[in-house]
Amino acid sequence: ALMTGEQYIESIRKIKMEIYMFGKKVENPVDDPILRPSLNSVRMTYDLAQMPEYQDLMTAISPYTGKRVNRFTHIHQSTEDLMNKVKMQRLCGQKTAACFQRCVGMDAFNAVFSTTYECDKAHGTNYHENFRKFMTYCQDNDLTVDGAMTDTKGDRSLAPHAQADPDLFLHVVERRPDGVVVRGAKAHQTGILNSHEVIVMPTQSMGPDDKDYAISFAVPLDTKGLYMIIGRQSCDTRKREGSEMDVGNSEFGGVEALTIFDNVFVPNDRIFLNGETEFAGMLVERFAGYHRQSYGGCKVGVGDVLIGAAAVAADYNGANKASHVKDKLIEMTHLNETLFCCGIACSAMGQPTESGNYLIDLLLANVCKQNVTRFPYEIVRLAEDIAGGLMVTAPSEADFRDPKLGPVIDKYLRGVASVTTENRLRILRLIENLSLGTAAVGYRTESMHGAGSPQAQRIMISRQGNLAHKKELAKAIAHIKE
Ligand code: SF4
Ligand code: FE
Repeated sequence: ALMTGEQYIESIRKIKMEIYMFGKKVENPVDDPILRPSLNSVRMTYDLAQMPEYQDLMTAISPYTGKRVNRFTHIHQSTEDLMNKVKMQRLCGQKTAACFQRCVGMDAFNAVFSTTYECDKAHGTNYHENFRKFMTYCQDNDLTVDGAMTDTKGDRSLAPHAQADPDLFLHVVERRPDGVVVRGAKAHQTGILNSHEVIVMPTQSMGPDDKDYAISFAVPLDTKGLYMIIGRQSCDTRKREGSEMDVGNSEFGGVEALTIFDNVFVPNDRIFLNGETEFAGMLVERFAGYHRQSYGGCKVGVGDVLIGAAAVAADYNGANKASHVKDKLIEMTHLNETLFCCGIACSAMGQPTESGNYLIDLLLANVCKQNVTRFPYEIVRLAEDIAGGLMVTAPSEADFRDPKLGPVIDKYLRGVASVTTENRLRILRLIENLSLGTAAVGYRTESMHGAGSPQAQRIMISRQGNLAHKKELAKAIAHIKE
C-alpha cells in the first residue's frame, strides 16, 4: 500500500543505520537539523502521491502487482509513462526547490529490469526473477530505494582490477554457496540515508579481467558492514543556528554520503549481475540514460523556483519594469524550458526493450544532460544579476531581530516602500541558497557531474549521432557519386 509522508518518516526512523558526520556517529538522523530537510524532500514524493489532483502523475498501476504504486517504484510501460516521470520530477522540484532523491532508485529499477532480462537470455542466469521479486517487494511496501553506481575509481587511467588498491572499485571478495561478500565504496550517494534499500551497480563497462567488479545487488540500509559518511555542503551548519531566514530554504534540502561496504554479505536472491562483464556496460548506459532524462525534470522544477525568486526580487527592488530585467527573466525561462523540451523529447522518442519496459532515446537523453551541465549556471548568473549584491552581504537574522540593529537594518535595507525588509531579505536568502548555499550542490555542481560528467555525454553523443548517415545525406544532395 502507499505510505503517507508521516508513515514514511517513521519507517526510516525504525531502520538502524550507521551514519557519521563531523567526526561523530549520528544517533538520530531523522531529527538532525542538518539532515532533516533532505528527509522532508523525499517525504514530498509520498505526500504528493496522496493528493487526488496529482494521482495520475505521482502514481501508476503496476502491471506486475495489479496495484496502484508510487511512480518512483514504477517500471515504465509506455512513452507516456516516460513523459509523466519527467513531469512528476518537475513538480517535485517546484515543491521542494531541492533534490528529492528518490529518482535514482526509479532509474536503477528500470535499468536493472531490462538488463537482467537480456543477461538471463544470454547466460541462463536467474537475475531477472531475483529482481522482479525485489521490485515487487518495494512496490508493495512503497519503499524508497537508492541507486549506487559511482565508485571512487582511484587512478582514472587504470581498469578496476589494475588499481593499486583493489577496493577502489566495489568488488566481490568472497564467493559462498549462499551468496557473495563485497567490499568497496560508492561516492556521492544522494539520499541514501533516506532510503530503505540500496541497489548497487557497476560504475563503467568492464573487460574480462574485471569479473569480480561486474556485480549488482540490493541490500537494506541496516545491513552489517554498510556505513555512511555525510558529505559537507556549503553553509550546512547554518541549519544548526536555528535561524529560519538565514538558510533560505528551511524545510527542504538534499544530502549525499560516501558509503562504505566493508565486507557486506549479499544473499543469492538479491544478486542481479555477478561476473557477466559484458552486461556491465549496458546497465551503466541505461541507468545513466534514465538519470540524464531525470535532470530534464528535476532541475527544471528547481529552476522554476529560482526564476520566480529572481522575479520577486526584481519586484521588491523596484526593478521589475526595467526592460533588461524583463529580458533576463525571459532568457532564464527560455533556458529552463529548453531543458524541459529535452526531457520530454527523449521520453516521447522512447522505445520498448526486450523485457517490455520503455527506454528513453539515448541520444536525446544525453543531449538533455549536456545542456543541464550549462544552462543552470547561466540561470544562476542571471538570478544573481537581478538580485543584486545584497544576496551575499545582508546581515544575519540575529542582527535583524536585535532591538538596536533591527530597526536600522529595516530602515536602510528596504526596497520598495510597500514591501517589508524581512520579505526582501527572505527572497534574497533563497537565491543565495540555490546559487551558492546548500542547494547549489544539487542545482549547480550536480548539474555538472551528476548522472555523468559532460565528457561522458559527449562520448555517447558521438556514438549515437550517426555521422555516417549525415555524410550520406550531404553527398546525395551534392550529387556526389563515389
Ligand atoms: Fe532526482 Fe534530480 Fe535529485 Fe537526481 S538530482 S535524485 S533526478 S531530484
Ligand atoms: Fe543526481
